[in-house]
Amino acid sequence: MARYINADELKNYIKDQLVATVPIPASHTPTYGETNIMEQIDAVPTVRVGLKTGHWIKNYGGKYVCSNCGMDALFDNTTCMVASRYCPSCGMWMCEPIVDLTERQDEQG
Ligand SMILES: [Zn+2]
Repeated sequence: MARYINADELKNYIKDQLVATVPIPASHTPTYGETNIMEQIDAVPTVRVGLKTGHWIKNYGGKYVCSNCGMDALFDNTTCMVASRYCPSCGMWMCEPIVDLTERQDEQG
């Protein structure tokens, strides 16, 4: 399982550790290594943390329901449901592929 850390907190921790272990005069200019590690931390790709994702489930009645809360998707101006990017009921980000239960039935039958 991934372990997420706060990059700014890590940088502050490293700076504090350097100060705690090596007396650094006020006139100290950061070495290449000190600067480089901070740049490397900033260069690490970021990820969205804590943002739950879900998907629409197209059921046998042709309705889209949310994988998280089970509520129906909204209708457009006609009688068609819209598989929107966010669930209008729970706010889940619906970035995962739609699960079409009617296709599964076709594959099995
Ligand atoms: Zn929902």
